Amino acid sequence: MTAIAGATSLTQLQPSPRMPVLFIGHGSPLNVIEPNEFRPRWEVLGREFGSGAQARWPRPQLILCISAHWLTRGWWLTGMEKPPTIHDFGGFPQALFDQQYPAPGAPRVAQALAGELRQPASQQPLGVDQAEWGYDHGSWSVLKPMFPQADIPVLQLSMDYSRPPAEHYALGQQLRGLRERGVLIVGSGNMVHNLRTMRRGASNDQAYDWALEFDHLMGEHIAQGRLNALTDFLQLGELARLAHPTHDHFLPLLYAAGAADSGESVRFFNASFQGASISMRSVIWG
Ligand code: ZN
Repeated sequence: MTAIAGATSLTQLQPSPRMPVLFIGHGSPLNVIEPNEFRPRWEVLGREFGSGAQARWPRPQLILCISAHWLTRGWWLTGMEKPPTIHDFGGFPQALFDQQYPAPGAPRVAQALAGELRQPASQQPLGVDQAEWGYDHGSWSVLKPMFPQADIPVLQLSMDYSRPPAEHYALGQQLRGLRERGVLIVGSGNMVHNLRTMRRGASNDQAYDWALEFDHLMGEHIAQGRLNALTDFLQLGELARLAHPTHDHFLPLLYAAGAADSGESVRFFNASFQGASISMRSVIWG
């Protein structure tokens, strides 16, 4: 195993100015390599961190990513020194399988955070994964455009899909204090995500009425600071089932919202649709 030149493993988090919280709609894995309207905005957002002319926030000490694509029993953090890039999809061009995101892990920080955080309901510490996971495309397909140098350590936090939405939000609330310890929290999913009804190449104004309605309702909750109300989305019944036949892509939003304050400033970007039934609406709190 070769060490990353010049990099020393992050061992602990230091106090920092408050970092923002992000929810990013990732959409198709192809967004990371094919021309599209979304990736340029991810690239611009990445330049808002650090010391460049466009910087608004310090460079993160650590990125904590909650991806729609890591579903587990119980909650886990990645604990490897060098997490592998996972190509968790099929039927895409070789160029997508050739993508790598060699950002370092932070095993000692993962161990410490696993002990600080509590799994909702059971109140157990989080698990630390040494072998199963790494960076799935929900994280690397957006982090690579944002931070192409891959020199900021990344942890992924899994989601226990068997648990109710309110528990995901509650774990997100536990993450809030990490914002003042240099951690950039990134939820990566989609505000609306129905692959069965997706129409490739559909333009933004061809989005389904139900997709527009669900996206609008959630956007209003966020804009008005009704963050807790996001956890009630299943009560929308048929509308929720259309927007999320499975709700794995909605849950990362609940972590980001949990880590936000209802009164803090919020901005949307990429607020449009991919393939008529994938909302790319993304959120910046702070
Ligand atoms: Zn996805």
